[in-house]
Amino acid sequence: MISMPEAIDMVLSRAPVLPVESVPFRDAIGRVLASDVFSPRPHPPFPASIMDGYAVRSVDCPGTLRVVGASRAGAPHDTHGSVESGTAVYITTGAPVPCWADAVVPVERIVTLKENTNVQIKVDASYKPGTNVRAVGSDIALHETLLFSGDVIGPHELGIAALAGIRNAETHASPRLAVLSTGDELVDPFSFGDVSGDDDENEPKRVASGSIYDANRHMLLAMAVEAGCVTTDLGIVKDDPLALACAIQNAVLTGADIIVASGGVSEGDKDYLKQVLLGEFSFDGQPDTVKGAIHFGRVLMKPGKPLTFGEIKTNTKTVLLFGLPGNPVSAAVTFALCVKPAVRRMSGYLNPHPPRIHAVLGHDIVLDHERPEYHRAVLHWPEGTVRDVQDKVDMTLGNCPYQVNLGTENLPTAISTGRQISSRLTSMKGAEVLLELPKGPGFCGKDTRVSALLIRGELGVSREMHMGRVRPVVTPAAAPTANHGVLGAAVAKTAGVTRNDSSCDSGKTRRRHGEKPKVITVVMHEMVPALNVDELLEESMIPDGERRVTDDGNDDGFAVLSAAIRVVAESNETSNSNIEGTWQVSQVFAESGTSASLATTIRHAACTSQIVLVAPSGPAGVSSQAAVVVGTDLGFPGLADRMRHGIEGVVSGDDKELNLKELADKHAGAGVGAGQVAGCVVLSVPPRNAYHAIKSGVQRMLVVPREKWEGLVL
Ligand code: AMP
Ligand code: MG
Repeated sequence: MISMPEAIDMVLSRAPVLPVESVPFRDAIGRVLASDVFSPRPHPPFPASIMDGYAVRSVDCPGTLRVVGASRAGAPHDTHGSVESGTAVYITTGAPVPCWADAVVPVERIVTLKENTNVQIKVDASYKPGTNVRAVGSDIALHETLLFSGDVIGPHELGIAALAGIRNAETHASPRLAVLSTGDELVDPFSFGDVSGDDDENEPKRVASGSIYDANRHMLLAMAVEAGCVTTDLGIVKDDPLALACAIQNAVLTGADIIVASGGVSEGDKDYLKQVLLGEFSFDGQPDTVKGAIHFGRVLMKPGKPLTFGEIKTNTKTVLLFGLPGNPVSAAVTFALCVKPAVRRMSGYLNPHPPRIHAVLGHDIVLDHERPEYHRAVLHWPEGTVRDVQDKVDMTLGNCPYQVNLGTENLPTAISTGRQISSRLTSMKGAEVLLELPKGPGFCGKDTRVSALLIRGELGVSREMHMGRVRPVVTPAAAPTANHGVLGAAVAKTAGVTRNDSSCDSGKTRRRHGEKPKVITVVMHEMVPALNVDELLEESMIPDGERRVTDDGNDDGFAVLSAAIRVVAESNETSNSNIEGTWQVSQVFAESGTSASLATTIRHAACTSQIVLVAPSGPAGVSSQAAVVVGTDLGFPGLADRMRHGIEGVVSGDDKELNLKELADKHAGAGVGAGQVAGCVVLSVPPRNAYHAIKSGVQRMLVVPREKWEGLVL
């Protein structure tokens, strides 16, 4: 599998800069100039007054002057021949200064003396030639280079061109980008209901069972417009090879430079896009459809692994085709990282990449074990930066010692947008950056400096705003302890793992290097709506991200979370002075709601916590119990052999006869799921009485030094 930087290089190497065309400047917003723009005329084209006042000869001042007329903006003074000395002309801002005058006296600096129809003004001070007069070409000189090849035309550039009277811009053409969504399950939210049926004509079509609304196409079309493309909407295409082939053919015929499809590029039996692109189907009785090549079909990244990139050659050009993964977050992220740079390269951008800045993490982030991650985050800018600068700037004296200090103290803080599962599009809401995180194991701790790609905002057009990629400091996960297979020894073993690096000296507040923070993490997870073991097993076969999950499990999760917060608050109050610092509670969400994914999340959470509490899910919490067994190295006392066997059967799928109901009835509420991994104690909290369970099972662990935990669990 190629890496994301390799994928981007590949895409850019196939993306041609589009030809140059002349377009009216006012239609060229967002386009890139292909040649320098020179001013054909000076501005101002005549000497212009800067003030409302009187145009005078400087040699006549001070003195009393006779007013002989007026020059207003758009209505110059009609000066025939020479004018006697001692005269003045009333003048407004921007009006031409008469040829005989060389200065303007502001209206507030004169005294008017009226005698019948004669108006005179008294000027008290002397004025140098040129005072309050903008000379010809003082703003823009004749033939000055106004804009440079490679500049992106924005509102200000348009204003400059208009001021200089330049109508047309030589720019690179805008890429024509066609978007289609693939999927039998998709319904267009903007198509109206069926008037003849029971649908409301003002509401979007109702989705039948198993259907969902098509988000990607509308989102990607908007992203393409924002990136400066001319777009074509090719609609929703069924998961059918012929339909797909026709849609691609159609896109090519409409003159698209880029085709962006979403969905249908993973491993499912109806994911046909790659085969269709390679021409692996023959359609009897149909005219030949287009064939192309694939450059890559999977990328080592998260989210967006199935990202596919290929091209179709026609007689006249090569059309780029991006097959984005169907999950909306994956589609949005891969568009930002791969499609947008291609669009920019084709549009003539000198630097097609998204601007990279540095940020510090506002909290720990556990790294994915298999793939580098582009983690969505918002930025919080340190208040101090603005205040410090304001303090130093004395605007009245024009003294602006403006220095942006790029030490970490002035970097923005990146805060994750929350659960990063690729179906949760709300994790893109407000996201300003994609944090470039390496693959794990381990975690990047709070305050770690990381690089971040800006995915919104005006900084995108700046040529300079590109900082280097940062290799963040990764804190390794604590080494897992050996599974010595003796359940009864688990507690002692847990204490032993951390005894050496635990620092319990009174009065110290800093953690030793390598020691984990005093954090209890509550692992929450969605629930697979399985009613029986067969359904549970069936669900567990469906790949992550495609599984049906409900939020029902989270109600239990929040109960556990709030109970943990309450117990920790109580413990922090009564904490013995030998214990450094206070405990904190954090939460993580497991993706996709199965025991297997929950087990992985437990392992991740264990890297950054001393205690992990698993909130129940699945029928009576059996799924959680199973996850604890699988996710930890060792079960604890209290986990009956039959339970252990039964649960492992659920996870591995080899014990379909297991009676979940019986299992649940027998063990629910007993807090039987417990284990330890990576120096962390993991407990499944019974759903029925979370507060009392945590208080009796966990609270004592919080108020005694770690090495005395032995014997406290269960
Ligand atoms: P696929 O890549 O086709 O396997 O789709 C992966 C997941 O993304 C499935 O849960 C799809 O239902 C969902 N999905 C695919 N296309 C879209 C779309 N256009 N809008 C919203 N969700 C989609
Ligand atoms: Mg699909």
